[in-house]
Amino acid sequence: MEKHYKLRNILTDVISKLKKQDFLVYFRKISIVEISSDKIVFGTVSSFMKDNLEAKFQNIVLEATKSEFGDNIQSIDFIVDNTIDNPSNSDAIDCQSYYKESTKTSKKAEKKSQVSMTPIDKKGNANNRYTLSNFIVGWDNQLAYSACEAVTKNPGKSYNPLYIYGDVGLGKTHLLQATGNEILMKYKDKKVVYTTADKFITEYITAVKKRTIDKLLEKFRSIDVLVIDDVQFLAKKEQTQNELYNIFNILYDANKQIIISGDRAPKELTELEPRLRSRFEWGITVDIWKPDFETRLAIIQEKAREKEFMIPQDVAEFIAANVTENVRELEWVLNQMIAEYELTGNTPSLTRIAQKLQKLSFTTDLLGESKRAETRTRTTIRSYEDIIDAVSAHFGIEKEGILWENRKKEFMLPRQVGMYLLKTKMNYTYERIGNIFNGRNHASVLYSCKKLDKLLKKDKTLLYEVNAIKDGIGI
Ligand code: ADP
Ligand code: MG
Repeated sequence: MEKHYKLRNILTDVISKLKKQDFLVYFRKISIVEISSDKIVFGTVSSFMKDNLEAKFQNIVLEATKSEFGDNIQSIDFIVDNTIDNPSNSDAIDCQSYYKESTKTSKKAEKKSQVSMTPIDKKGNANNRYTLSNFIVGWDNQLAYSACEAVTKNPGKSYNPLYIYGDVGLGKTHLLQATGNEILMKYKDKKVVYTTADKFITEYITAVKKRTIDKLLEKFRSIDVLVIDDVQFLAKKEQTQNELYNIFNILYDANKQIIISGDRAPKELTELEPRLRSRFEWGITVDIWKPDFETRLAIIQEKAREKEFMIPQDVAEFIAANVTENVRELEWVLNQMIAEYELTGNTPSLTRIAQKLQKLSFTTDLLGESKRAETRTRTTIRSYEDIIDAVSAHFGIEKEGILWENRKKEFMLPRQVGMYLLKTKMNYTYERIGNIFNGRNHASVLYSCKKLDKLLKKDKTLLYEVNAIKDGIGI
């Protein structure tokens, strides 16, 4: 029993140092398996938990253990405790219940002191769930994220306007609202307005009807940050575009920040007035891509954490491998799973989720695909050189031509393929890829990867070639 109390004290200490979600997701159930004079061994439910605890929280747990058992404790270990779920194991602690118990008393006090965040728009137009810190950054959305972050540091000064575009469900609204929210938190006196093009149209039409256009203009004139989502919906609304154009100019001239999203690049918004379109391009234009496997996996884990839902690693990987088109769908699948768990108490299993996804027709060959995904992630590639070698062999040109600064056309495509594979298959950062390719800067690597991705969508032969290279080295 003493063990049990000591463990409770250690957990209390750990809880005070961790984010709630991290504690609930990673600790789950824990026990003390062994106590010796200088070392404590903790028991966990699975090797996944053990690996995570070791990788992420070793120091925090060690410190908490020392303050409970004394400074003679030199180290701690985690092992899988096969008896942890036995009812007779009264020393094990279920972290979820313990969390609830231990925070019950402190919560009330906390609530009082919490500063509640003002929504961007008092009518509830902003969603406070969206923050920059719960936005998962991958290579597909890195630029957009960095631009938003820069804008929060220096609204109206660094990138103005900031125009973000991409397909539906890839996080534009999340980023826009998160940026607005963050600016509002940092600069309490700034007036931030979030609106969608649709709402703006309605507001404009109402103002015209009620003859209150002056008031509308006055309202927009006085704001510091205008966030306007989904501008593609302004298509064919000429008068509204006209009004937005005026507002844009007023705000821009007064160095007020403007943040815009659309489903296409400004140039491609052909149904919008050219002068408005060209204003959208005055600052920085960044696009968001479909997330790759790693980003999708991280997003599922983050969303599950937010919802305090424990999702087994294999199930998360399976969903990430199969639900590939947009993040909203990923979230939807996760919500389905949670609902099922709440109704039936069944923890999600691979077979169950495979059936479910098949039913929802996300894919037709689920288990086959999952096996492939598995072998893919398990294949070990010795180094980036294997990829470069394969690309060089495939195109029949020397490695140096690919890696070094050589502007000849025949080297360009293989170089792009090499960079693209390192990014998408090895998940290297642009910086790292740039270093491999003779110290190129990260923007040029990003450009090459994007260019190839676009080409692959158009050019089936090239796609076939790239797949052949991938198959050749088993990635
Ligand atoms: P869009 O406006 O581009 O259609 P949303 O911003 O509405 O997309 O995103 C759809 C959902 O996916 C939202 O719930 C959002 O939080 C989530 N989402 C998209 N991308 C990410 C990301 N990188 N990290 C975390 N959540 C994301
Ligand atoms: Mg949106």
